[in-house]
Amino acid sequence: MQNYSWFSQLSSKQRIWLFSTIIAMCIIVTVGLLMDSLAVKPKRIQNFNINMSIKDTAPLLGVTGKGFARELDLPLDVPKRKPLRALGISTEELEHAVEHILSHRGSMLKYYVFVVLVLGGLVFLVRLGRPDMSSLEQRSIWYPRTPYILFLIISVIVAGFLLGKSPNPMEGTVKVFKCMVGLYPDPAAKAAAFLFFIALALVGSKIICGWACPFGALQELFYTIPILKKIKKRKVPFILTNAIRSLLFLTMLLFLFGIIGGRRGFVIYHNLNPFNLFNLDFESVVIFMTVLVALMASFVTYRPFCQLICPFGFISWIVERFAVFRVRIDKEKCTKCGACIKACPTDAAKDLVNRKKLPADCFSCARCLNSCPVDAIKY
Ligand code: SF4
Ligand code: SF4
Repeated sequence: MQNYSWFSQLSSKQRIWLFSTIIAMCIIVTVGLLMDSLAVKPKRIQNFNINMSIKDTAPLLGVTGKGFARELDLPLDVPKRKPLRALGISTEELEHAVEHILSHRGSMLKYYVFVVLVLGGLVFLVRLGRPDMSSLEQRSIWYPRTPYILFLIISVIVAGFLLGKSPNPMEGTVKVFKCMVGLYPDPAAKAAAFLFFIALALVGSKIICGWACPFGALQELFYTIPILKKIKKRKVPFILTNAIRSLLFLTMLLFLFGIIGGRRGFVIYHNLNPFNLFNLDFESVVIFMTVLVALMASFVTYRPFCQLICPFGFISWIVERFAVFRVRIDKEKCTKCGACIKACPTDAAKDLVNRKKLPADCFSCARCLNSCPVDAIKY
C-alpha cells in the first residue's frame, strides 16, 4: 500500500495558494501590529476614590453613568452626582468595579488575529484540504487534522491567553444589547464589533467559532485529546441544546430590559462568561465552575458551552445558512449511507443529509469532508 502525505500531494497551484495565504496572513498581522501601536492606549487610571461621583468616574472608564451604576450593583436611576461614599460604596467595591471594566478593554490586534485564523481556515477548507486530482482511494489524506489542531492551539494561545478575554464573539453580541439599555456610550462601535463577528460567521459557516474563537478552540482541543479517545463521545440532540440556548438568550433579554426581575441592566451571561479564563481572573466561583464544567464535559460531548449557552453560538446558528461557504451534500450522489453522520460531532450532517430547513450548528470542523464513500460532500 502506497503511503501518501498530504503536503507532497498538493498540486503546484495549491502550493501557490498555501504560500500566498501564509504571506497574506503575515501581512494582516503586521498591519494589525502597526495599527495597534498607533492606537491611543487607554491610560490605566489609579486614582479613583469614593469621594468621586458616578458622573466623574464613568466617562474616564468609557461607560455610561448607568453602566457604571450597574457595575456597582446600584439601580440604574441612582443619583449620578452624589459621591460614591454617600451611595454606600466602599473602596473595595469601587476597585472591583473599575478592575472589571478595565479587564474588558481589549486589544485591537485581536480583530486582525481573528481575520487571519478565519482566512487560513477558509483556504484550507475550500482549496487546500483535498489535494487536486486525488482519488477516492487517497481519501485518508484529505483534510488532515494537524493543520486544524495547529490553528486551535494558536487561537487559544494568541487570541486567548496573550491578547486576553476581550474582544470575543460572545461579548460582542451581549454588548450590543447592553447599549440598548444605556450601559455603553458608543452604540455605533459596539454594533460595528458585533457586525464584524457576524460577517466572519457569514464567510464560512460558523468559521469564526470553529477556527478562531479561543474558548471554542479550547473545547475542541479537549474533545480531540487522543489520550482520552477511549471515552465514548455522546451527541446531545440539537433540539434540546438549541432549546436551552435560545431560552437562555430570551431570558437574558427579559432580565436586561427589566421585564422580569425588576433590575433593568442585569446581564445573566456576566456570570457565565468563560472568556475570563484568558485574563486568569475568574471573578466569581460561578464563572470558574462554568469553565471547569464546560471543559470537563468537552471530553464527552462536542463544544457544550457553544451548543448550550453562548449567545453568539445562537445568533450565528441563525445566520449560518446564509454563509457563502458551507458544507453541501450532493443529493444526486448521496446514498444516505450514514458515514458523514457518524463522523459529525453534532446533528449537522444528519440534518443536511435529510435536507432539514434549519439544520443543527455546523462548526466547519471538516470531520465529514473525508468520510463520504461516494464523494458527495463539498465545502
Ligand atoms: S459559540 Fe463557542 S466558539 Fe462560538 S463564540 Fe461562542 S464560545 Fe466561541
Ligand atoms: S462534521 Fe458536522 S460540524 Fe463538522 S463540518 Fe461536517 S457537518 Fe459541519
